[in-house]
Amino acid sequence: MAEDVKTNLAAVRQRIVRACLDAGRIPEEVTLLAVTKFQPVELIRQVAEAGHHDFGENYAQDLRDKALAMPDVRWHAIGPLQRNKAKYVATAAWAFHALDRPDVATELGRRREGEPLRCYLEVNIGGESSKSGVDPDGVGALYDAVRDIAGITVVGLMCMPPPDDDPRPHFLRLAALARDLGLSRLSMGTTEDFEVAIACGATDVRVGRAIFGERTG
Ligand SMILES: *Cc1c(COP(=O)(O)O)cnc(C)c1O
Repeated sequence: MAEDVKTNLAAVRQRIVRACLDAGRIPEEVTLLAVTKFQPVELIRQVAEAGHHDFGENYAQDLRDKALAMPDVRWHAIGPLQRNKAKYVATAAWAFHALDRPDVATELGRRREGEPLRCYLEVNIGGESSKSGVDPDGVGALYDAVRDIAGITVVGLMCMPPPDDDPRPHFLRLAALARDLGLSRLSMGTTEDFEVAIACGATDVRVGRAIFGERTG
């Protein structure tokens, strides 16, 4: 198992390098987040021991627990967040990729100590009623509402396209929205489509299954 995650990580890294070269981009521009949801710390450690530094976790309390167990790597909160759990993300995370509400932004800023929390505004790029994220039409207003909050700094946009759609037009639209707002970072692409995301300008790809294997949870 441990050998598997290291082998998988190396293969994903290689695919990222290839996708960057194909897109005329520098591999160092792309941060790989190893997505740890439902994965045990023992397995996550194997990935860290292979030299990996950035990890993405969906659930705020799991993030807190995993960050306590593994304080020497960077933890990115990537899932929807309720205001009453913002304290876990504010204290344990290096970045938050799913900001879609001003009240959560205020709470994160209020709880944050030290360096401002790097935040990505999540955009509901496919306009799905079941999905979190701000509508594409509302992202400018959300940015205006949260950009001056102390304790956080908005660095980019994030999206998760509808599962059955061609992701490319969604990724290109997110890139255009970020460009319009003057935001430089784009968190997009998973196991299914990280190479397409890199071709469309992703700076942060969030990959779980290709590293850890299929989730049983
Ligand atoms: C689970 C998850 C991922 C990773 O998905 P995989 O298919 O395991 O690569 C990325 N982003 C978010 C928001 C997720 O919830």
